[in-house]
Order: sequence, then C-alpha cells, then structure tokens
Amino acid sequence: MLDLLCDIQNIKGIGKQKKEYFRNLNVFKLKDLIYFFPTKYLDYSQIIKIKDAQPGNINLVVKFNNIKEFRTKNHHLITQADCYDETAKLKVIWFDQSYRKKMLNPDIEYFLSGKLDLKYGSFSIISPTIESVQSPNINSGRIVPIYHQTKGLKSSDIRKIVYSLIQENELDQELLPNQILDQYNLLNINEALRNIHFPRNSEMLQRAKYRIDFENMFILNLSAILLKEENKLLSSYSIKFDLEHTKQFLEALPFELTDQQKIIIWQIIKDLQKAEPMNRLIEGDVGTGKTVIAICIAYIIIKNDFQVALMAPTEILARQHYKNIRSLFKNLGISKQVAFLSSSLTKNETQEIYQNLKDAKIKFIIGTHSLIQVDLKFKKLALVIIDEQHRFGVHQRQLLKQKSEFMPHLLSLSATPIPRSLALTLFHELKISKLSIKPIKVKSPKVIISSYFDYTKHITSIKKHLDNREQLIIVCRSIDSKLNDHYSIAKVQEQTKTFYPEFKVATIHGKMKTTLKTKIMDDFINRKIDILISTTIIEVGIDNPMATQIVIYESDKFGLAQLYQLKGRVGRHKLAGSCYLLFDPEKDNPKRLKILQSASNGFDVAEMDLKIRGPGSIYGIFQHGKNMDLRLSNINDLRLNKLTLEAAQDFYQKHNMIEYKTLLDKANDIKKIINLD
Ligand code: ADP
Ligand code: MG
Repeated sequence: MLDLLCDIQNIKGIGKQKKEYFRNLNVFKLKDLIYFFPTKYLDYSQIIKIKDAQPGNINLVVKFNNIKEFRTKNHHLITQADCYDETAKLKVIWFDQSYRKKMLNPDIEYFLSGKLDLKYGSFSIISPTIESVQSPNINSGRIVPIYHQTKGLKSSDIRKIVYSLIQENELDQELLPNQILDQYNLLNINEALRNIHFPRNSEMLQRAKYRIDFENMFILNLSAILLKEENKLLSSYSIKFDLEHTKQFLEALPFELTDQQKIIIWQIIKDLQKAEPMNRLIEGDVGTGKTVIAICIAYIIIKNDFQVALMAPTEILARQHYKNIRSLFKNLGISKQVAFLSSSLTKNETQEIYQNLKDAKIKFIIGTHSLIQVDLKFKKLALVIIDEQHRFGVHQRQLLKQKSEFMPHLLSLSATPIPRSLALTLFHELKISKLSIKPIKVKSPKVIISSYFDYTKHITSIKKHLDNREQLIIVCRSIDSKLNDHYSIAKVQEQTKTFYPEFKVATIHGKMKTTLKTKIMDDFINRKIDILISTTIIEVGIDNPMATQIVIYESDKFGLAQLYQLKGRVGRHKLAGSCYLLFDPEKDNPKRLKILQSASNGFDVAEMDLKIRGPGSIYGIFQHGKNMDLRLSNINDLRLNKLTLEAAQDFYQKHNMIEYKTLLDKANDIKKIINLD
C-alpha cells in the first residue's frame, strides 16, 4: 500500500524543483497526486493497418526503415523514415530532433500515434509519438490521459510519474463497504484509480469515473444523515408565538411588510416553537428586506425574555446594523437592552458588556468576530443571527453556538444564494426562505465592461455624476503588491488622483485601525469624500445613497457572485447607478462578465458561478488543502444524488457504523465542513 501521506518529493523523479511546480497544482502529498485526475483523454487505442489509414489522427503498430537525416536550407534538422506493417508503408518526418535517428531501432516494433496529412507533396505523418511495443506504452496505442499542465510540468511528465505510481497493487484504502460495491456494481477503489489515470478501455473509464462520483456523493449523504441524527439529540429554547409583540413591532415600522416577508416571519415563528434547533437561511438580494425580518424575530425573542446575538462579517456592517436596529427600536422602549460589541471598545466598556450579557441585562448584542471570545457568556441565548454567513468559518459558527447550554436557533441571512444543486446535496438540513421582491423599487445599475484603455473615455460621464454631488467607489483586489502588474490600492490611488484631480480621494482597507476605518466611512457617508478606493471590505457593508458609481479593477479575477454584490453597492437607491468592470484586453476574457449585464437576480448569478468556478467560489469551504479530495464535479447529477442518498440511508439503518471506522471518520470530516449551522 502506498504511503499516501508522504511528501511527493519522496517519489522517484520528483526533486526539489518539481515539487515546487507541483505546488502550483495543489499537489503536495502522494494522495494529492493519486487524486490529481486527468482533465481529458486522447483515444489512441484504435490501432489500424496502414492500408486502412485515412488522413487525420491514426494509431499504428509499425517498424521503421530507410532512416535518414539531413538539413534544410534554413538549417532545420529533418529526420525522415518509412514506417511499415505487413500491409503498406508511410513516410514519417520529425523536425529538429537530433536524438531521433539514434533512437530509432529498425529491429523493433513501435506504437505510433499521430496525424496523417498531405504535406510536401505526399502523405506523411509529421512528428508522431512513438513508443516501443515491448516497454509499457503510456503515450500511444491506448487511451492517453491529459493532465492540467503548469510551468515546468508538462502533461507528459505527470503522466510518466503517475504511471509508475499506479503500478503499486494497493493505491488507497477502500472506503465503501463490500455490500455497496456489490449492490451497485462498482469498481473497487484501486481499479477505479488505475482506470481513471490509464483506462483499459472507454467502458472502464466510465465505470471508474462513476465509482469515484458515487463514493463522493455517498459519503456526502452519509454525513448529512449523521448530522441530522446528531441534531435530534440537541435541544433549544422553545419560543412561544407571541401575537401581541409581533403586532407591536409591525405597527412601529414606518412601512408595511411585503407578503413574502410576512410569510417568512411566520415560518420562523413556527420553527422557533419547537425545542429542536432551527437552522434557516433567508436568501435574497441586497434590499429585499432580510434584515427587517431578522430584527422582527429578535424583538419577539427579547420580549420573551431571551437573548439574541447578531454577527456581521465586518465592523462597518455591524455598526450599520446597530444604528438601524436602534432606530427601529426607538419607539419600542428597549434601546437600553441593545448593545454593540467591537474590538475597538475599551477594556472597561467590554467588561461591562460581558457582565450585562451574563446577567441578561443586555438582550440583543450586535458585533463581529468579537462575539466569539471565549470568556463571553450569555444567560439565555435563544437565537443567533448571522449576516452574510459565507464569510464566516464553520468553526466560528460552532463556537458561538456553544455559548449556551441550550443550542441557540440559527438564522442566516445571505445575498449570495446557495445554488439549487448544492442546497440539495450539501445542505439538505438547511431550511431556505427566499425573498425575490424588492419592497422599494430601484433601478438596477447599468453594467459597463471596459478595458483599462477605454476607461478614460468613461471618466467624463463619471465626473458628471460627481459634479452632481454623487460619489464613486473604486474597488481593488489587493492593498499593496510586489507585482507591478497588479492594480494595488496604492497604484490605483495614484491613477485616480490624475484622472480626477478636482475631487477628494480616500482609501480604506481591512488592515487599517478600526477607528480610522470608521472615520473614513463616516466621512464618505457625510460626503466629505468624493471617491473612496477600497478593497472588497466594501462588498458587504456600506449603504450610502449618494454612492452611485462603482469602478472595479481586475474585475476578471472576481467571482460573478462577488461582482454582483459589489454592483449592489450602488444599486439600492433612487438615483440610477453605473458599475464599470475593468479588464486587461491582453490577458483577460471579458465574456464571462457579460452575464452580469443580463442577470436580474443573485440566484442566476450564483448558479452560473457554480458552473464556472465550482462550489469553493461560493462558500469558501472547499478551498483548503485538507478538503481537496472532496470533488464535486458530479454535484449537478440529481439522479446520482438520489441513488446515493437512498444507499446511504439504507446502509445507515442496517449497519452499525462503528464497524466501518474509516468510512465513519471520513463522513465525520465532511460533516464538519457542511455543518453550516
Ligand atoms: P437587506 O438586508 O435584504 O439588504 P434591508 O432589510 O436592509 O434589506 O432593507 C433594505 C431597505 O428597505 C431598508 O432601508 C429597509 O428599511 C427597507 N425595507 C425593508 N422592507 C421594506 C418594506 N416592506 N417596505 C418598504 N421598505 C422596506
Ligand atoms: Mg443586509
């Protein structure tokens, strides 16, 4: 059995340099390499006789004779030979391969794969791949795997290394129980891995892929079942339906809730009555009124004498929530029970809040990560609200949960929806409420895709808005960078000052002190600043009605869902906004960005993002090395999902999981990843 955890440098043929190159492919350990699957295959397996050869790709078994070498007028070295089998012969030519003549042995048979073409007046095969029939053929005469290449590592290098690796009998441990393999007629893991890399034939390749997909989905479903069973054992405070306070809150609102909002409030109220922990997500674009729903529920809970915590991904956003909540609660007489916790408070202020949370004098706490400090204790925490949850690590969610002996209910708000396929597979324990109607009609910002070169042409138009006291947000990917071709904040700031000399420019980014960030945000909202250059901390956060223009540098490097959120920064208000997506015409392909010009809601954009960039782009959960082996190419296969769910349910009911330790361990690992509650 291979030692899958050993560093790839221990493999023959991989030295220090190659190891570095493999890093770029996220291959560190032997296991990563075994699971580094080909992206496609070339079928060189159909071997024909020369007499049947037709122009195009052909695969032959031949010998060579008449081997000659000469130079052309412009000094190219030509190696020419005839290849033949018992039916006919063909001319073969190689260019500039000084070793070729020496290597061709007229006494042995070769696999030959190449293209038969009419060139230089006759049919010949130019630069084919040949391999001796005696030694194992890995590049010709078979289905040949093509791997993703990177600098310093060609597909053929990887092919060679992988080929020698898979000669081992046992490549990985079998996770799937025998009865599952039998029942579903699956290849065992070793056969599957071998055939994924070097398929015996196309049928075996299909079976190998199916086996791997089956395993992934089976384990994913098994994890979800384990999670569900675990959650059955937990209990939460059951919150009684409270008509009086619900009414009170609704009457204090300056507007009437939409029907969608009312329905969701009702769904949540019903969830909260149960003693089992709620796990519900409200999905809806910015401005669909998610926060109001959360606050209404919070109010009901507070009035029932329990506590609520609201966690936001950035301090700016947390502050904004705090401000809004205070103003909504103004006429309800509970402002004193609401507090804001942030790392910028003094030690004494923080201690006081801690004490008041422990005594439940504070009922509603709003903050950022600061809410998960170990020494923060609640008296009766009944609900945790997480805004824009995909920005939090699962671990942090988990910690916040453990702050009470009862499991708090969980309500998440997100403007980046979970695509349907993910919702069905990864997150089946999550209940989802969707908001699609914006209560306040606003014009969606116009999306303009522009090369850096053309950006200057748009500046006059942007300036017109600035003259009108509107404001501009400029987004960069990085704060500063050693690479010159990067548009860092510093570089963009310089450029912006020359483009807009008459306007006030400021910058903001995550590494600044909180007090400074707050001041800059305040200045921006109070229009002391015309142009704010920011990293993506602006993505979820500011709500500034006068910011109507947004320019995004290196837009090609962002996920669509993220760009959609950024665009939303200027799309919440009555003034029509514009969103400029800048790209480099020499390097980037702006085609993908066009989706943003037509997409009218975040749901479509998230689906597209999933297709293009994979699930990691949406919920940052699969990016880290340790989860690399959870491949989700098959996530859109609903039929396989159903089949593996049934298989997992059946298996779970009939067997004692303890007896399948490796399977259980793996399922538990995955469970931690998908556990969004
Ligand atoms: P989200 O959190 O989904 O971005 P918010 O809850 O912050 O949306 O609502 C966006 C804006 O719309 C806020 O100013 C809010 O007060 C207002 N709003 C929410 N619901 C309604 C409604 N039913 N009618 C009118 N205005 C609403
Ligand atoms: Mg919001």
